[in-house]
Amino acid sequence: MSRRKKLYEGKAKTLYEGPDAGTVIQYFKDNVSATSINPNKKGVIAGKGVLNNRISAHLMTKLESIGIPTHFIRSINMREQLVRKVDIIPVEVVVRNIAAGGLCRNLGIKEGTILRKPLVEFFYKDDDLNDPMVSEDHIITFGWADPYEIEDMVSMAWRVNDYLNGLFSGIGMTLVDFKLEFGRIVTEYDEVYIVLADELSPDNCRLWDSKTGEKLDKDRYRYDLGDLIEGYQYIAERLGLIPAGGILNKGGNVNEKLAEKLELIENELGKERDRRKGIKKRPRK
Ligand code: C5P
Repeated sequence: MSRRKKLYEGKAKTLYEGPDAGTVIQYFKDNVSATSINPNKKGVIAGKGVLNNRISAHLMTKLESIGIPTHFIRSINMREQLVRKVDIIPVEVVVRNIAAGGLCRNLGIKEGTILRKPLVEFFYKDDDLNDPMVSEDHIITFGWADPYEIEDMVSMAWRVNDYLNGLFSGIGMTLVDFKLEFGRIVTEYDEVYIVLADELSPDNCRLWDSKTGEKLDKDRYRYDLGDLIEGYQYIAERLGLIPAGGILNKGGNVNEKLAEKLELIENELGKERDRRKGIKKRPRK
């Protein structure tokens, strides 16, 4: 059997060579870690990758629909998606609406404090250094991105925040904070532009139930607050991506038939969206 070429293996995802030039297959693993609070806290939670794949595909598609360029092309199966190959900018862009996590730990801000405006922070992507916070000046000085690219990333981050705030409040959740990664794509005319890359899932955002304040995201694992899958399934359910009761049973086994059916529907919707986009592009007579 021919093995596809592994390009990169990260903590939660593996990247394989895609079927066409300029494409990559992004595989969502079940591995989970909480390195920011404890370098030794690592584990495997069955089914997490399936849920993150679906949630991320959905959110990226939604963001594309409001004009934010992303690397996402389409879902392939339960754990994989086809994405555009990008040159990842080694800067994590974090947007915060409410104080939690690192902001409380590092600056002593009380958890739950509503920030007077969304706060954008940059972190240098380096596991060995534990992703330290950096300034715009660090990013420019060390050539990780130029000032125009920083401007692009920040303006996209603000738009993503506006959109996701509305989307999640509509399903009874508060978007506390999230992390974005961006990548460069070089066109055939040698123009470089930036797209949203990586993933958007409860692994990299904080979501609290608007009524009860219950934490539904990876903090459940970080701080031993409860079953991670339960929180992730609830988010997927409320987004309308899986039926009530979920696609994973308690042991984390996937109801394969149901998941395949849902994927087929999603891909059909994707094709329909592409078809409509094509119609729009046709010049008017
Ligand atoms: O830990 P901290 O409070 O700085 O995290 C802010 C947000 O960024 C959280 O939603 C967290 O899940 C996300 N994050 C991430 N990957 C990192 C660091 C933070 O997804 N390496």
